[in-house]
Amino acid sequence: MSKDVLVFIECKDSMPRKASLELLSAGRQIAAKFSSGLSAVLIGSGVKRAADVVNAYSDKTIVVDDEALTDYGWDTTSSVLQDIVKKYGPMIVLGTSSMTGKDLFPRLAVRFEAAMISDAVGFDFEGDGLKIKKPLYGGKVISWIAPGTDAMLMATFRPNSFAVSEPGQKGEIIEEQANIRKNPGIKVISFKKGESKKVDLQEADFIICGGRGMKAAEHFSLLEDIGDIMGGRVGASRTVVDSKWRDYDDQIGKSGKTVSPKLYIGCGISGALHHIMGMDTSKVIVAINKDPNAPIFQYADYGIVDDLFTVLPALKDELKESREES
Ligand SMILES: Cc1cc2nc3c(=O)[nH]c(=O)nc-3n(C[C@H](O)[C@H](O)[C@H](O)COP(=O)(O)OP(=O)(O)OC[C@H]3O[C@@H](n4cnc5c(N)ncnc54)[C@H](O)[C@@H]3O)c2cc1C
Repeated sequence: MSKDVLVFIECKDSMPRKASLELLSAGRQIAAKFSSGLSAVLIGSGVKRAADVVNAYSDKTIVVDDEALTDYGWDTTSSVLQDIVKKYGPMIVLGTSSMTGKDLFPRLAVRFEAAMISDAVGFDFEGDGLKIKKPLYGGKVISWIAPGTDAMLMATFRPNSFAVSEPGQKGEIIEEQANIRKNPGIKVISFKKGESKKVDLQEADFIICGGRGMKAAEHFSLLEDIGDIMGGRVGASRTVVDSKWRDYDDQIGKSGKTVSPKLYIGCGISGALHHIMGMDTSKVIVAINKDPNAPIFQYADYGIVDDLFTVLPALKDELKESREES
């Protein structure tokens, strides 16, 4: 059976997100293994611009560009994606484990009676099939899930799970008209866009994350300075967000964002499972905590047992100096 792969592309400022290009690169390997086609779908307003970039990674780029799709809608966007999946008949549909992906994919999986695997971090092949890697219990268990070979698979992957491959030969761009169906039962009254940060938290290669040990909102400027030097982002624990020291947009963990940066530094974070679940697939984890028994040290590659108000200013000076020298 042909196993065509379709990747749902997310855009920022009308350009594809890096996480979506990662998925196209992974999708290419899956399509090659099954000798099938790789398509991408762009749904939104002004997304046509992104098609030229996406097209260098896919055989087909399906574009549904409509003003009515300016903001993501659980009803509108999903109705359009449903029609595209129905029309093109992929067996594997991939998306990012973002807020949008987490909302959209389970809805679609129910409608198609597809196998649904969320928050995955890798894949491999076994026999004729595919198996998907998914961490559980804050990374304490790594599960490999093999979906049935006859069922459609819908899977979302954490950003930074795959490298972006070199762009290849340009594929075909297909424009489709949207048959947008709004659910009359629920009316969205307003959207409040968060402050736009330089680097998206889920796509950042470097994250410095502050917990309750930071003691006050104003101390986060230390983390901002280090984040700027490293070209990364500041994250926060839920305690910090609940204390209104940082926006919800910065929250990492079970009820916040899932991140997989190349380097995560946790400062004054105890390492509660709800937090660990959002960052355990970071490539290198460094923890700074004055309590040697803090659970975060069980997950850290490097641990610094000290007062963060001593360590962070020294770290900032060292980084600044080494950047100035290079
Ligand atoms: C349903 C549910 C969902 C949740 N979702 C999330 C989530 O998405 N994200 C999340 O983060 N949490 C989440 N939580 C909360 C989570 O369980 C923890 O309560 C929270 O992560 C603790 O935050 P913290 O590590 O900042 O604070 P604490 O646990 O209070 O830890 C503070 C740490 O700072 C250290 N410290 C203090 N001063 C210093 C200093 N000067 N120098 C160095 N170290 C210092 C202390 O030793 C301590 O280890 C959730 C909870 C529930 C019930």
